Amino acid sequence: MPYPKLFSPGPVDVSKETFAAMSQTMIGHRGADFENLYASTQPGLQEIFGTTRPVFISTSSAWGVMEGALRNLARAKVLCLCCGAFSDKWLDVAKKCGFEAEAVQVEWGDAIDPEVVRAKLAEGGFDTVTFIHSETSTGVLNDLVGICKVVKSFPDTMLIVDCVSSLSTVPMDMDANGADVMLAGVQKALALPPGMALFAVSEAGMERAKTVKNRGYYFDFIEFAKNAAANNTPCTPSISLIFGLQYILGEIAKEGFGPRQARHAKTNEMIAAWGAKHGFELFAPEGRRSFALTCFKTPEGFDLSGFIKNLKNKHGLLINGGYGKIKGSTFRISNMGNETEATMQELIDAMDDVLGA
Ligand SMILES: *Cc1c(COP(=O)(O)O)cnc(C)c1O
Repeated sequence: MPYPKLFSPGPVDVSKETFAAMSQTMIGHRGADFENLYASTQPGLQEIFGTTRPVFISTSSAWGVMEGALRNLARAKVLCLCCGAFSDKWLDVAKKCGFEAEAVQVEWGDAIDPEVVRAKLAEGGFDTVTFIHSETSTGVLNDLVGICKVVKSFPDTMLIVDCVSSLSTVPMDMDANGADVMLAGVQKALALPPGMALFAVSEAGMERAKTVKNRGYYFDFIEFAKNAAANNTPCTPSISLIFGLQYILGEIAKEGFGPRQARHAKTNEMIAAWGAKHGFELFAPEGRRSFALTCFKTPEGFDLSGFIKNLKNKHGLLINGGYGKIKGSTFRISNMGNETEATMQELIDAMDDVLGA
């Protein structure tokens, strides 16, 4: 094996079956074959997003849509809810797009408090809010229902939700929660190779986009909606990845969305229990932990890079040694995608072996 199996939180391991599904005969994207392929993805995507809206397919990483959502919805002033590397970066991206942007910033490892968001929005002037559900850098699962409720109580304020590492691990209930954009990359919890993002836009979000100038072309929501109505995409999409998506959605349907969530809860708990056994403290607060990955604090004096290196060299398994400013002081283990109790147990046995336990 030239490369280790990935247990780092994205990209994650891609199954042979997924790759096989992706290597079907190439088809053109303007025609019935593609339209049937595209249409076949919609019911499954709508189920995991919890929406009756079309779910658009973007040939980009998640950031393309994260930036695009701002360019489609924001008018002047953006509020970014920041609690880790990805959510903090969104503030930077909003400014780079030319918007006035402010943050509700909490310590990395903490969750966003909806009441703090309410107080900040009450200052007035914000037309768009960015929010990350599962902050992959810290392993925190933020309060989606609570944040949506607060933002929705401010009229004409758009809410953009990144569910990159939570999609399919817990219900998103996009329509019920009232999110205006929900987006995810496919290389995290859906266990596809990187290169594609999925997103849905509320009716209010589409209405807003129509009034916003300079949306650009590649991520123009109006273009996406126009093409989606004919089961198509504005530009040539990564057709092989859509074959893979079709396969994964079939697997989710076979497993059942409920059992899939239960599997993630169970495998996530296995890693937390493994950590507890070895005295590794969780970085995220209890009750606000992601079900897709686990972030541990590196104990004083623990040789983290040696641990990761030995696990990789001896067992061909790769975990992650922390991200952004908590690189080294934390480490992360993914249980996203296709991992089962059996494959997580293999990882646990290998980690125990390396620790000499
Ligand atoms: C991985 C990740 C991203 C960035 O995704 P790209 O595909 O690299 O653009 C954004 N948000 C979260 C929460 C992520 O986990």
